[in-house]
Amino acid sequence: MADATSECNIKVLCRFRPLNQSEILRGDQFIPTFLGDDSVSVGGRSYVFDRVFPTNTTQEQVYNTCAKQIVKDVLGGYNGTIFAYGQTASGKTHTMEGKLHDPNQMGIIPRIAEDIFNHIFGMDENLEFHIKTNLAVGSDDAHLSLATPTSRFVSSPDEVMDVIDEGKNNRHVAVTNMNEHSSRSHSIFLINIKQEHVETEQKLCGKLYLVDLAGSEKVRLHILVCLVYLAGLSALTHFIPSSCFMTRILQDSLGGNCRTTMFICCSPSSFNDAETKSTLMFGQRAK
Ligand code: ADP
Ligand code: MG
Repeated sequence: MADATSECNIKVLCRFRPLNQSEILRGDQFIPTFLGDDSVSVGGRSYVFDRVFPTNTTQEQVYNTCAKQIVKDVLGGYNGTIFAYGQTASGKTHTMEGKLHDPNQMGIIPRIAEDIFNHIFGMDENLEFHIKTNLAVGSDDAHLSLATPTSRFVSSPDEVMDVIDEGKNNRHVAVTNMNEHSSRSHSIFLINIKQEHVETEQKLCGKLYLVDLAGSEKVRLHILVCLVYLAGLSALTHFIPSSCFMTRILQDSLGGNCRTTMFICCSPSSFNDAETKSTLMFGQRAK
């Protein structure tokens, strides 16, 4: 088993969803031009990322290219975080969750759940695993501050899915009277994996945070501040309000041994041109 060393590795990936039916009917233009595997041009300017996924990329391709490795890292004792950033309706939830029970359309979280258990079944049978999941939903907006954590030990991918389904129902009940709730709140799914060797009693811990951020058009500045903190730019940390929801939740993922992936999700429509450019700029800065 690999030892977790003290290093933080951050990857920034960009994904464009296809034009949707109403955008096509309205006559919107398709604005991105994809240049190779790692860059995209919008409005005459190119943006380079660790990887760019054009609109026809499947959920499976996204997972295999950039999330699969994180499962191995977390089982090896690293802390991993995957963020999805982008404006409302840009594909964040599609990327992170997708359709939970559809093998083709399921996103990163259900695939990770399956992969974790597949790995465990293939590992040394003297290793004992304790897997706990925790779903928190909340916002940095004082008027909408709420968190509905659902925490539980799980022993199969289906039980992981149950936690997500229940969390969604709770969130729905908790926020029915609030406007625009889903676009203003972050959703953070934590998978905590502890393993212990039954003979040597050697222990290894890994945490994986899967974060579906609030719509960037609502909370850009606040998210930027939190992400700067999370990226470990310690010179700035004393400016961070302790009330920052994400910071509070993610604080213990800041240990030296982390693997962080950020998905920059974008609309391809000319109608969203300005927000898409801001989103791409944000992603470049995070790099
Ligand atoms: P967000 O979570 O960023 O607000 P969603 O993930 O809910 O956005 O996506 C908005 C709509 O676009 C949904 O109906 C979703 O199914 C669809 N969609 C998003 N990304 C894709 C994609 N890559 N391919 C096909 N449909 C997508
Ligand atoms: Mg969403």
